[in-house]
Amino acid sequence: MTEISRPLRVAVIGAGPAGIYASDLLIKSDLDVHVDLFEQMPAPFGLIRYGVAPDHPRIKGIVKSLHNVLDKPQLRLLGNIEVGKDITVDELRQYYDAVVFSTGAVADRDLNIPGIDAEGSWGAGEFVGFYDGNPRFERSWDLSAKSAAVIGVGNVGLDVARILAKTGEELKVTEIPDNVYESLKNNQATEVHVFGRRGPAQAKFTPQELKELDHSPTINVVVDPEDIDYDEASEEARRSSKSQDLVCQLLEGYAMREPKDAPHNLYIHLFESPVEVLTENNQVVGLRTERTKLDGKGGVVGTGKFTDWPVQSVYRAVGYKSDPIEGVPFDEAKHVIPNDGGHVLQAPAADPVPGLYATGWIKRGPIGLIGNTKSDAKETTDMLIADANAGKLAAPAHPEHEAITSLLEERGIAYTTWEGWYRLDEAERGLGEPEGRERKKIVDWEEMVKYAKAVPVHAQ
Ligand SMILES: Cc1cc2nc3c(=O)[nH]c(=O)nc-3n(C[C@H](O)[C@H](O)[C@H](O)COP(=O)(O)OP(=O)(O)OC[C@H]3O[C@@H](n4cnc5c(N)ncnc54)[C@H](O)[C@@H]3O)c2cc1C
Repeated sequence: MTEISRPLRVAVIGAGPAGIYASDLLIKSDLDVHVDLFEQMPAPFGLIRYGVAPDHPRIKGIVKSLHNVLDKPQLRLLGNIEVGKDITVDELRQYYDAVVFSTGAVADRDLNIPGIDAEGSWGAGEFVGFYDGNPRFERSWDLSAKSAAVIGVGNVGLDVARILAKTGEELKVTEIPDNVYESLKNNQATEVHVFGRRGPAQAKFTPQELKELDHSPTINVVVDPEDIDYDEASEEARRSSKSQDLVCQLLEGYAMREPKDAPHNLYIHLFESPVEVLTENNQVVGLRTERTKLDGKGGVVGTGKFTDWPVQSVYRAVGYKSDPIEGVPFDEAKHVIPNDGGHVLQAPAADPVPGLYATGWIKRGPIGLIGNTKSDAKETTDMLIADANAGKLAAPAHPEHEAITSLLEERGIAYTTWEGWYRLDEAERGLGEPEGRERKKIVDWEEMVKYAKAVPVHAQ
C-alpha cells in the first residue's frame, strides 16, 4: 500500500443517489478519504428531486437518510457546477486522486415511428421535468387533450399516466410548485390510455406502482380481459419472479372487476404495438397500434390488425438515456460510460483509464430503483479502494482542500454548498407551510442559487 500523509481526495460527479451512496462508502472505508461531490444543479439528490413523482412522498423521503451522508465533514457538496463545461475532467485530475462519475440519465430515449415529433407528442422525461419543477424544463404545459396516450408499460409510464389522470386538487397537497398546479388544474384529460406491445407477464411495472393506481378516488383503472394472455415462456416468467406474478395478478384483477365510479378512466392496453402517431397539420390527433400476439417464446408478433385511438397527446415512456461528458469515453450504442463494473474503460472491452470510475445509471443504463444504486456503488468503490491500496492512483498536482474552491472562485462560478441546501430547503418548507404542505418547490434556477447563497440561517 502507498503511504500518503494526506487524505485520499476523490471527486464524485453527480449528487444523485448513486453519487451519494458512493461518497458514503468511500468515507466509511478504512482509508482516510475526502470527497468533493460535484452537482450541476443548484440542489442535490438527482432524480429523487427531479424524477420521483410528487405524489410519492415516501420515496422522496429517502433524502432524509441521504442527509446523514451529506452532513459528514469529510464530504463537501459543490453544486451549480457542470463538469465538462465549467471545469474539465482533465482539470479535475489535477486536484483529485480519483474521479467517480455518477451522472445518471435525464434525456428521453427516441421512438422511431412516424409522427412522433408532432405537436402534442412528448418524451415522458420532459413532462416529468415539468411537473417535478426542474428549472431546465418547460414552466407550463398544454393539458387541453381530453384523451392522452402513454407509450410504455414501465413505472415511468405509470407515473405519467397517474399524474395525467389525477386532478390538480389531488396533487396540490404535494410539493408541486404553483406554475405546475396552474397547468394541472386546467387538465382536460378524462381518458388516459397506456400501451404496451407485449403481455402481462412482460410488463415492466412493479406491483406497488400498479396497485397504487387504484388508490385515487378519481381514477378507474380498466384492463380488457382479451389482453390477459400467457404462453409457456410467460408462465415461466411468472413462476420465476414473484414480482412479475403479482403484476399479472393485479392486471387480471383490473380486467375482471366491475368498473369503479370515477371521473377519469385509465386504460392499460396490452398486446398493442404503437406504429404511428396520427397527425393533422402536424398536431397529434390519434395513435395507431398494431395488435400483437405471443409467439410461444415470450416475444410477440404483429397480427396485421390495426386500431386508431383518438388521442390529442402522446407521451413516450420508453426509457431514459444518459448524456456523454466532455473528456470521458462514452458508449454511443448503450448510452453509458464504458466500464468493467467500476473502472472507466477507454472504449467497450478496452483498457481502463487509470483513476476514473463510474457508478449508477451512467454505469449500467437507466434501469432499476434507488436502492439498486447502493449495491452498484459498493462494486465501484471496492475497485477504487483496491486501486488506492495497490498504489495505482496517480497523485494530483494540487491536493490541498482549498485549491479547487480557489479555482472556482477565480472563475467566478457561483457554486452552491450543503450549507446552502439547508437554506434552500428552509425556504421551500417556508413556502409550503401556510398551505399545510411539507414544502413547495422553488423552480427558478437563479432563485434557487439566490436562496442557497444567502446569509447562513443554519449553523451546521
Ligand atoms: C421518472 C422517474 C421516476 C422514478 N421513480 C422512482 C421511484 O418511485 N422509486 C425508486 O426507487 N426509483 C425511482 N426512479 C429511479 C431512480 O430515480 C434511479 O434509480 C436513480 O435516481 C439513479 O441514480 P443515479 O444517481 O445514477 O442518477 P440520477 O438520480 O440521475 O443522478 C445523477 C446526478 O448527476 C448530475 N449530473 C449529470 N451530469 C452532470 C455533470 N456533467 N456535472 C455535474 N453533475 C451532473 C445530475 O444533475 C443528477 O443530479 C425513477 C426514475 C425516473 C426517471
